[in-house]
Amino acid sequence: MKIVVCVKRTASGELNPFDACAYEAALQIPDSEVILLSMGPDKTKEMLLNLTRLGAKEAYLLCDGAFAGADTLATAYTLSLAVKKLSPDLVICGRQTIDGDTAQTGPSLSVAADLSLITNVMHIKETAGRLVCETRDMGVQTAEYPALITVERINHLRLPSIRSKKGAVIRWTAKDIDADLSRCGLKGSPTRVLASFQNEEGKRKCKFIEMTELSEAIKQGLEKERQHLNPIQQSERKLRKVWIVGEAPRSFAESISEDITAIDKEDFMKAGDTNRDFAVRFTEHIREWQPEVILWGSDVWSKAVAPQVAALLQTGLCADCTALETDGEKLYMYRPAFSGNIVAKIACMTKPQMATVRTWEAGSAEVICALGKGAKNVVHDVQALVQRKNEVAAKGKSARWDIAATRLAVDAEMLSYDRQVGITGKSVNSAVYIAVGISGAVHHIAGMKQSSIVIAINPDKKAPIFDYADYGIVETAEDFMNFLNKEMYA
Ligand SMILES: Cc1cc2nc3c(=O)[nH]c(=O)nc-3n(C[C@H](O)[C@H](O)[C@H](O)COP(=O)(O)OP(=O)(O)OC[C@H]3O[C@@H](n4cnc5c(N)ncnc54)[C@H](O)[C@@H]3O)c2cc1C
Repeated sequence: MKIVVCVKRTASGELNPFDACAYEAALQIPDSEVILLSMGPDKTKEMLLNLTRLGAKEAYLLCDGAFAGADTLATAYTLSLAVKKLSPDLVICGRQTIDGDTAQTGPSLSVAADLSLITNVMHIKETAGRLVCETRDMGVQTAEYPALITVERINHLRLPSIRSKKGAVIRWTAKDIDADLSRCGLKGSPTRVLASFQNEEGKRKCKFIEMTELSEAIKQGLEKERQHLNPIQQSERKLRKVWIVGEAPRSFAESISEDITAIDKEDFMKAGDTNRDFAVRFTEHIREWQPEVILWGSDVWSKAVAPQVAALLQTGLCADCTALETDGEKLYMYRPAFSGNIVAKIACMTKPQMATVRTWEAGSAEVICALGKGAKNVVHDVQALVQRKNEVAAKGKSARWDIAATRLAVDAEMLSYDRQVGITGKSVNSAVYIAVGISGAVHHIAGMKQSSIVIAINPDKKAPIFDYADYGIVETAEDFMNFLNKEMYA
């Protein structure tokens, strides 16, 4: 099988972590010829050359001034030309890059290169004849070849052996792939970053409290529940013809429009349909009715389908917006970037203007107890506690609890990857986030800072997590657990 793996050198000069997993996944497929493909500046060559030592005989670098400044649509177009030229059976991409952080390029590329698609792959189960994969939130999915999959953080990229040889890196310019320059780089990008700001969001003034005050802090968080979801500012002028896919983006839509139509995705689905079938049918409807704006939620389904619709319509899509604004003509979309350190203000030059917005996941827990490496001795106790809390919650008496983890906790096998919160895990926005034994690295903060109330428990008063917490308890995880157990059985 011929496999193309798309890899990106991130802004910090490293291989994007999800792409490392994509490469390893390809190398593990028996009898495969693996080819690396990257679009980027000249310095990407060095990274590709090193990567060829692991098994890919060849790497292609799409490198041309005309490719610079590309958004996801222009990137997908450019990559698709190379993919078509290489004609693989399978393309593997990482779920998302950690700098761009949109998760859009894979799905858009699948449309541009006419490949069937499975996103958020946790495990490749079968490759013979057709592709069968277990996904993160959408069960087992099947695709016919040629196909594209995007993978989660499902493995660790092997290291080169001392004897491994470097392969070849072949540079392709716009001419080599016969690119239409009006569709490449900044010129071909319908979304534009208008401004960027330092993002102080997430920083909180921490009040240090005693363990005995914990219940009160949790109660306060639950009372404040869901107000935290972006206190949405109303724009004075409004846009017409705004569509929302499902009800989740409604409050965002109401901030920019009084003319809102909710789309029920079931109206566009037939039994046995793939996401692509939906995307094609919905695109026809959009062409007919020409809405100004379409807003999607941030669930896994929306994030897989919206980029396909954008690619079919050749329009821009801004990912994970936390606020919207309008002057009555244009839609301005605000989204965090670079682990949330920066907020970018983005506009879309084409119609419809589309965005996925950060929404609350239906049925998600109100209290999340997240464990870091410092909580290694209390994992089972916390699991039991969460179970007991949920037994009470099932009787309708109290809030639902859930458990989460840092990446180091996942790597130490304390909890499974689907629990990981952060830039290479998932984002959560619970009413109360209790961070136990977590240091507070930016990569983790990026996934939890939308929580209403954050309570941090760490014996190190200088731990950065306290800068992102409303309440701090300077205690060990063990003391925390002893206290809760006593309180629970009191
Ligand atoms: C590209 C990239 C992507 C990443 N993505 C993610 C991501 O998605 N999510 C994520 O979480 N991380 C991610 N990381 C890793 C991140 O940078 C941190 O290394 C990680 O979040 C730290 O995990 P931790 O807080 O559990 O462990 P540590 O940083 O080791 O902190 C452990 C904490 O436990 C405290 N402690 C020690 N003993 C006790 C005790 N008895 N009781 C209570 N506390 C105690 C210590 O004071 C310390 O603050 C990523 C890193 C990179 C480079």
